[in-house]
Amino acid sequence: MNPLILDGRKVAQTVKDELKGQIDELQSKGITPKLATVLVGDDEASKTYVQMKANTCHKLCMASERVFLPEETTTEELLDVIQRLNEDPEVHGILLQHPVPSHIDERQAFDAISLDKDVDGVTSHGFGATTFQLGAYPCCTPAAILQVIDYYGLDVEGKHAVVIGRSPILGKPVSMMLLNRNATVTICHSKTENLPEVVKQADIVVAAVGRPKFVKGDWLKEGAIVLDAGYNPGNIGDADYDTCYAKSSAITPVPGGIGPVTISMLLKHTVEAAQKQCKVS
Ligand code: NAP
Repeated sequence: MNPLILDGRKVAQTVKDELKGQIDELQSKGITPKLATVLVGDDEASKTYVQMKANTCHKLCMASERVFLPEETTTEELLDVIQRLNEDPEVHGILLQHPVPSHIDERQAFDAISLDKDVDGVTSHGFGATTFQLGAYPCCTPAAILQVIDYYGLDVEGKHAVVIGRSPILGKPVSMMLLNRNATVTICHSKTENLPEVVKQADIVVAAVGRPKFVKGDWLKEGAIVLDAGYNPGNIGDADYDTCYAKSSAITPVPGGIGPVTISMLLKHTVEAAQKQCKVS
């Protein structure tokens, strides 16, 4: 039987449709949810991501502020910008575009974002609070993965989820979120031995590796669910779609899977941040 195609564009549209009413309500009270994005340097891909985020904000009648800083910006200068945005009552969410130039202390910069404006879930405090289910905004790609799971009513409790990747913005937080949903979680990384055999035990595979077509269909147990967070040049995922399609019971395509949901989660978090900061629920 063909697998269920998990259509991220449909999931994203549903999230955005729900947001419209909430944004209208905020605007009726004179509040426009605003996302500030900070980009350091001239990385073309990062510029495109920042532009996409601003465009999506505008489509939903949200406000956005883009702060472009030169490549030679110091950590201290970046911290000053973040502090200004933390103190600006019109800014409800802050996103520091990753990666920043290597001379900048990225962790210090992320952790300077105040928790109530950390709509991208990048602070250490936010990660801890997400892990302990204390109401912080989770990172957007992990949140998107969970949103797809919920939209399609996929069973997580008691299932074995194998997450390939342990980055602070993706592999680690999605592992904690799946654990909080009572999955049995195995986290794999570049030092994992016998990866195909580990993946073979999975009911759910999350591919978050950053290597095109890395996860092969013959690694999968028959009927596994494949959630591919990967996005490599040429619109190629971290799972080898054709061979995984043949073995899985449900699969996210690339493009059109987790990616579009990620931006909608960023906007969802920003609207929630505006509601909380302005005490409108
Ligand atoms: P990352 O920071 O480079 O992390 C990659 C992870 O994969 C690391 O934990 C690494 O292990 C692991 N890994 C690398 N080679 C491996 C191997 N041969 N076997 C097993 N594990 C291996 O990447 P990321 O930022 O998490 O991104 C992962 C993917 O998601 C990329 O394709 C990226 O483009 C995509 N992404 C998509 C979105 C979206 O909106 N859809 C957002 C963010 C990222 P070590 O820890 O041992 O090095």
